[in-house]
Amino acid sequence: MSEKINIKELTITTARKHLDEGDFSAVELAEAHLSAIREKDSDIQAYLEVFDDILNQARKADEKLRTKDSKQRTSFLGIPLAVKDNILIEGHITSAASTMLKNYTAAYDATVTKKLKDVGAIFLGRTNMDDAAMGTSTESSPFQVTKNPHDTTRVPGGSSGGSAAAVAADMALAALGSDTAGSIRQPSALCGVIGLKPTYGAVSRYGLIALGSSLDCIGPITRTIADAELVFNVIKGKDPMDSTTVDRDDYPLIKKQARSIGVPWKFLEHETIDKRVLTIFKEALSKLKTLGYEIRDINLPHADYAVPAYYVYLPAEASTNLARYDGVKYGLHVDGEDLLGDYLATRQKGFGPEPRRRIILGTYVLSAGYHDAYYNRAMGIRRLIKKDFDAAFAAVDLVATPTSLGPAFKIGQKIGDPVQLYLEDLFTVLANHTGMPAISIPAGNLEEEEKQLPLGIQFIAPHLHEELLFSVGKRFLGEE
Ligand code: GLN
Repeated sequence: MSEKINIKELTITTARKHLDEGDFSAVELAEAHLSAIREKDSDIQAYLEVFDDILNQARKADEKLRTKDSKQRTSFLGIPLAVKDNILIEGHITSAASTMLKNYTAAYDATVTKKLKDVGAIFLGRTNMDDAAMGTSTESSPFQVTKNPHDTTRVPGGSSGGSAAAVAADMALAALGSDTAGSIRQPSALCGVIGLKPTYGAVSRYGLIALGSSLDCIGPITRTIADAELVFNVIKGKDPMDSTTVDRDDYPLIKKQARSIGVPWKFLEHETIDKRVLTIFKEALSKLKTLGYEIRDINLPHADYAVPAYYVYLPAEASTNLARYDGVKYGLHVDGEDLLGDYLATRQKGFGPEPRRRIILGTYVLSAGYHDAYYNRAMGIRRLIKKDFDAAFAAVDLVATPTSLGPAFKIGQKIGDPVQLYLEDLFTVLANHTGMPAISIPAGNLEEEEKQLPLGIQFIAPHLHEELLFSVGKRFLGEE
């Protein structure tokens, strides 16, 4: 019975053990999650859809769990996961929380979906997100407002807010998110869970509804570092369907262990950062020192330009990616007077305010005459930021920053001011510019209105050095 399962205490690792030892079945584990969803999700609104075949999936897992054939007893057999609504699961709607794709049914599995299916994972449902993954609060979703489980008057962060809230509120053992400028890490920080943005190219983007193709990464949101590592190890790898993917094993590890951590102090004195965040960050650094890490001051001279550069070239990429939604092949179709009229009417109705803003900005910065002044300059800044990090990693093994400028903010507080929302990416976007892996780990709480609001510490590692992130995370959280 599901009463014997304490899902609050459960992780992928411990659930695996209990399932293998027959302490509970996959059906019981799925039922426990379904009952948590029934109890909490009318309030939190993390899920856009809870699938109706969950118990069927679980029954099949139980059959395999009962066999003696070890080949059938795969590593994620019976493990219930949530998936952000921009990752395709064949036969299910995948809308990217966009009106344009509201009724779009995925015709195939994303590579990450397929890999997780192959190891026996159970898919609970698809989670809410910002409109087309544009945002930092999940408020731009046209469908519902997801609440932060730590204080339901506040946002869960975004754009993977539904995934982070589901994991934080025990409505999934783990979830997948996507991260273009911070969309896995910032909501994970604000919801008090762990979020990993892998190295660009370490995980296939095939079947991810594209936002910025040179930045997008799929990654796990979990309750322990060990779980993040487990999910990452399943979903990573070279994929013939995504030519930007690489195999970790094809590249030697340059650093085997992290001993020193660089902190870009000058950059952290940014005027918008809540000073209490720095206090908690400093406490985290003291803890790292006592764990034996050497903390060094580093300089990232171009980091101040990271947000402006992103909001020039990301809209350029986004506008190109969104050009395919013309109302002809799939997605929303609205009749106009003629073909051009169809395009205009469809795009008018299908895109919300934020995608529209990005299309206007993006097509402008790519237009003849402005291309050099905006797009190319932004790409130049991207290269300089990469150089800053290469120089930093010549001196230290990891870079640390807070994950967010402050704790979860109030629903409605920033939605009228896009620049405020854009600034939320200040620390996270660095790793997207450079393609480096980064993780957000819970690092204390701030009290506001008698609620404990979580904050995260972010670690960034050199390309393909996810191992360093897992090891510092495990030591920091005492998982070893
Ligand atoms: N805040 C960023 C944006 O709105 C992040 C998006 C993301 O990582 N998906 O573009």
